Amino acid sequence: GIRSNTVPNIDNSLNTEDDEDDIVDLAANSLLNKLIRQSLVESSHRVEVLQKDPRSPLYSVKTFEELRLKEELLKGIYAMGFNRPSKIQEMALPMMLAHPPQNLIAQSQSGTGKTAAFVLAMLSRVNALELFPQCLCLAPTYELALQTGRVVEKMGKFCVDVEVMYAIRGNRIPRGTEVTKQIIIGTPGTVLDWCFKRKLIDLTKIRVFVLDEADVMIDTQGFSDQSIRIQRALPSECQMLLFSATFEDSVWQFAERIIPDPNVIKLRKEELTLNNIRQYYVLCENRKDKYQALCNIYGGITIGQAIIFCQTRRNAKWLTVEMMQDGHQVSLLSGELTVEQRASIIQRFRDGKEKVLITTNVCARGIDVKQVTIVVNFDLPINQSKEPDYETYLHRIGRTGRFGKKGLAFNMIEVDKLPLLMKIQNHFNSNIKQLDPEDMDEIE
Ligand code: ADP
Repeated sequence: GIRSNTVPNIDNSLNTEDDEDDIVDLAANSLLNKLIRQSLVESSHRVEVLQKDPRSPLYSVKTFEELRLKEELLKGIYAMGFNRPSKIQEMALPMMLAHPPQNLIAQSQSGTGKTAAFVLAMLSRVNALELFPQCLCLAPTYELALQTGRVVEKMGKFCVDVEVMYAIRGNRIPRGTEVTKQIIIGTPGTVLDWCFKRKLIDLTKIRVFVLDEADVMIDTQGFSDQSIRIQRALPSECQMLLFSATFEDSVWQFAERIIPDPNVIKLRKEELTLNNIRQYYVLCENRKDKYQALCNIYGGITIGQAIIFCQTRRNAKWLTVEMMQDGHQVSLLSGELTVEQRASIIQRFRDGKEKVLITTNVCARGIDVKQVTIVVNFDLPINQSKEPDYETYLHRIGRTGRFGKKGLAFNMIEVDKLPLLMKIQNHFNSNIKQLDPEDMDEIE
């Protein structure tokens, strides 16, 4: 099966100085998403396809057998527990595996099966008997490269003699080494170094080039240019694939610069809505008062699990200590933890080991805990200009119309923050009812 060379020990603890608003780190969020993922993410939308040649027939597959894969690869796919292609894989795989190879730009939210799709493409095009790099995958960070590598190793479990190597900083290759591994996964800077300075990789022999997480990539200084320099040295018959979870104009412009004559596949995200959420607010004097209101809510209704959001790490810590002292099982998720620590806290919460999760903004995205009955905004989300952060409010409280159950949301509001709450109410054109915390009968 697939083995890989040893991987350096990497410290991926995040920025710890910032005590106030946590900075959203795209790469860290993406890694967290991968670590806590359990299954495919669904979307009720249709896959949109734009072919470079609109006259050519459009194939889609409903089974992996239809793809005529090498037997050992099919075995690997089934060993991973995949029964049928995901929604985007149905359209993307026939294009990616076509002869002659076709280029592809694909956008769909994280968890929809993009990585599995391009790993499949790489493994199906690799020749195990040729001992030089044939597939090259660029990723934004060490950790994300390693995650992709693990998928290659799993899916390629039965592909004897196919090996992965990581072109990441810290992976020191002695002088004069000949790289015999067929699949290289790395960050743009190190890959560039390996190709041009150290001549470890001959780009003219690459058959499949993958640029993963393009949105995270262009967010990192220098990565776009480095990626383009690498791409320019590839042979024209090399298959080029680009993936992104989001598609702002900047990603699109980059994608068009780096992928010639692409097919384009998009799967829109399931939208969040506040329609099936009952929203309340409680007027409070101060932090202690907010905490009292929270306790009253706890005393008044039966709560399965709750997520409580604070604006600052300091507040989150304070609240955690208070609740623990009152005998609640609480865990604290905050930005100073490593991504692995965050993932394990989310996992414990999902398993029901803790009933309350207290967190700051940074961790809000991507947590999709279906069994949560209530969400509490201990502090309203506000942006740097002290205005309501509508998007974050929606992400904390909203659920998808199709898969979401009914939910309850409570906002703890100091009197001076009331105008902000009213703005939120107007913005979403939804009703946020005032609640007397002494009288929980109001919650129907
Ligand atoms: P993305 O790259 O879009 O974030 P992944 O390829 O990582 O998505 O897939 C998300 C999750 O779904 C992973 O746990 C992966 O193992 C799983 N998965 C991918 N494709 C399939 C499939 N066809 N059937 C079942 N599970 C799948």
